[in-house]
Amino acid sequence: MKVMKFGGTSVGKPERMHQVAQLITNDTEPKIVVLSALSGTTNTLVSIGDALSKGEKENAKQIIDKLESHYHEFVQSLLHQEATCAKANAILAEHFEFLNIITKISFNEALNKDILAQGELMSTKLFSVYLEEQGIKHALLPALEFMSIDANDEPQVAVIRQKLLPVLAAHPGIDLFITQGYICRNIRGEVDNLKRGGSDYTASLIAAAANCSVCEIWTDIDGMHNNDPRVVNKTVPIEQLSFEEAAELAYFGAKILHPTCIWPAQQEKVPVKLLNTMQPEAAGTVITQEAGSVGVKAVAAKDGIIAINIKSSRMLLAYGFLRKIFEVFEKYRTPIDMITTSEVAVSVTIDSAAFLPLIIKELEPFGTVEVDSDQTIVSIVGNDIAQTKDILSRLFDCLKPVPVRMVSYGGSRHNVSLLIPSAYKTETLQLLNKGLFDL
Ligand code: ASP
Ligand code: MG
Repeated sequence: MKVMKFGGTSVGKPERMHQVAQLITNDTEPKIVVLSALSGTTNTLVSIGDALSKGEKENAKQIIDKLESHYHEFVQSLLHQEATCAKANAILAEHFEFLNIITKISFNEALNKDILAQGELMSTKLFSVYLEEQGIKHALLPALEFMSIDANDEPQVAVIRQKLLPVLAAHPGIDLFITQGYICRNIRGEVDNLKRGGSDYTASLIAAAANCSVCEIWTDIDGMHNNDPRVVNKTVPIEQLSFEEAAELAYFGAKILHPTCIWPAQQEKVPVKLLNTMQPEAAGTVITQEAGSVGVKAVAAKDGIIAINIKSSRMLLAYGFLRKIFEVFEKYRTPIDMITTSEVAVSVTIDSAAFLPLIIKELEPFGTVEVDSDQTIVSIVGNDIAQTKDILSRLFDCLKPVPVRMVSYGGSRHNVSLLIPSAYKTETLQLLNKGLFDL
């Protein structure tokens, strides 16, 4: 059994949905196909919820009507037979009636989650009708029957497995299953979700719960690249990454994979493959337990970073100083990304300014506090990077023109992180592309 997950753009146009149907019938391995909502739909559903939360019912109604006509056009070119068209129109009628009823009743957060779930419910149902039209035998599995989160809004693989396996077993002779990404039930039994972009997470959870051979994530780029293709001219896909390398890259800015998506597959040692719907023959990137090779594999950048420097002569030889500083960040639930220390000062970075004024106020009694915003973390990732010969000299050689503000090396064996002013990001990524990858 394998998992194949297709994102919003892979199902966002009728012809792309046709192509997905081809891709999933290319081989005979039994599979669970996880779909996102059609591209743009979840954003639209968010704006419907926003409008309703502000009491703007007319506005919400207009957005719903526009979305409905989009779906009608979609269905018209997706399907070609009268019976399946009628079926699809009945599905749309049901879901849009639901949205329209919601505009008439009093709005609350649980209802908002119901609104957000409509995208994946519709995409999977429409896809199922298309498969039916094509005579492709399959079963549609309601994710709300097996995908759940606990009291802390965290999914538990064992709990999901316990519910999923009987659902699969209830369909003997079926080896193609379609289900919704993103949506789940919470501890109160209400419809909830795994947060924006959560379909990857669904895929990884199912792959872990059903002990799948592989979890394939199909998008519109051919795998994880060695650098940001939006910033540098030439990038190449990375063939193989370890879970640890991939997690560092995802966390430090590589947009392709949702950071939390990794752990369930990693825990059950299911390889994750990143593949391109537009170029299905391309090898993509495979993420496994092993890294495949040693050395630098990729760089990624994370913007919107704030550096805070606390200077204090009292820190000299003092124990407990760092704890006091960390406690301030803990109090305001603000995670620290990077940290560097000297004997009289400590610099940390955060990626949220939400509590910055309060944090600064509480840090001031410890010393002089300086804040630099508009910073970028550039992370250089690779298996056992610290063992790579000359890595630091190569790095700093190519970054001579860049005023590096902080360096973090040795925290993990897979990563060197630099903090630079965001104004230097493009130049830094280009210099690294040349200096480390010769691209
Ligand atoms: N449709 C959801 C979103 O746009 C989940 C996903 O696409 O992964 O966030
Ligand atoms: Mg999406």
